[in-house]
Amino acid sequence: MTPDQAKQHVAAAVDAQAPRLIDISHQIHAQPELCFEEHTAHHVLCSALEDAGLEVERSAYGLDTAFVARAGHTGPHVAVICEYDALPEIGHACGHNVIAAAGLGAGLAAASLAEALGGRISVVGTPAEEGGGGKCFLLERGAFDGIDAAMMIHPANHDLTRISAITVEQFEAVYSGRSAHAAASPHKGRNALDGAVLGYMNVAALRQHIRPDERIHGVFTRGGDKPNIVPHDAAAHWYVRSPTLDSLGELRPRVLACLEAGAAAAGVTVECRQVAPVYADMLDNQVVLDLYRHNAALTGRQMAEPEAAAAVVGSTDMGNVSYAVPSIHPIIKIAPDDVAIHTPEFAHYAASESGDQAVLDGAKIMAMTTADLWLHPEAADRAGCELDSVRS
Ligand SMILES: [Zn+2]
Ligand SMILES: [Zn+2]
Repeated sequence: MTPDQAKQHVAAAVDAQAPRLIDISHQIHAQPELCFEEHTAHHVLCSALEDAGLEVERSAYGLDTAFVARAGHTGPHVAVICEYDALPEIGHACGHNVIAAAGLGAGLAAASLAEALGGRISVVGTPAEEGGGGKCFLLERGAFDGIDAAMMIHPANHDLTRISAITVEQFEAVYSGRSAHAAASPHKGRNALDGAVLGYMNVAALRQHIRPDERIHGVFTRGGDKPNIVPHDAAAHWYVRSPTLDSLGELRPRVLACLEAGAAAAGVTVECRQVAPVYADMLDNQVVLDLYRHNAALTGRQMAEPEAAAAVVGSTDMGNVSYAVPSIHPIIKIAPDDVAIHTPEFAHYAASESGDQAVLDGAKIMAMTTADLWLHPEAADRAGCELDSVRS
């Protein structure tokens, strides 16, 4: 089979599954599930993979809502990633239903050629991208061992070769003070909320003097119960982002000093607890990306390099995967230029006609890229060499 024939075959396979893929995308969209609670999405995706005859491991690697579906026995081993978690209040405002359905479509289409072309595919269902670090746990537990290349798509408001993904570390700062009657004996109290607020203000001042490509943001998660009780307990949830793990290492102590200074001023204590694995920056593999870009053009999508104005800046646990295996995380357009991810408007586009089109295009492009890697094992080797040279 020639590469052109293989690509026509997988594109036709995606088209044949189109109504089902779109239905699954809409089902996941209609029932947003948060970090590690994506039971419906897990079930729907696993059922579709089982129906197609793939060997599916539900609740894989000790995570209830993770899965791996495999096909093929020899040759280059490609992983296609499905994300399917949503955001509180605003549902699928990151469009992970599109990622899930496109990954499913790519997996099904590629699996139908795995034996014929001599390749292996794993469709990996990775829960809790929005802060829980599902891929970090899967990576640690061996889910990506032996994988030659990993890929996913992410919807946004442009067609871009990559997300501008920086590292993120998140922690909860828990302040402990002493309660007292706020009117009768305030002098006996030590106000944990004051400590948290002063810590927040210190970080606000710090933000003027960090690198322009760093981000720090926090919200209060506990701040007392009633105004007439001096709060003995307060907490804030913080994200600290920096371009690389090294630069994050320099920024982290400056943030912690701000939070501790707030506690000291209020006469309370603070404990900063890491609540999820640190997300690494993303190493985009050029060899795999070139194949992807070429195949995207076959579906009519011209992938741009991100420029400052159009870049999608964020963090993803795909970054951790990208340090272990050659990986890509291209961005696929589903919304107008002025509609950003993590907004209610974006959630609307994730189940619109343009979202559906991205499911089908994304599935085709990833399946075609998988076929390229199977038909040209030397490309998979070059992708591995590139990663080795970037890491060293
Ligand atoms: Zn998101
Ligand atoms: Zn996302």
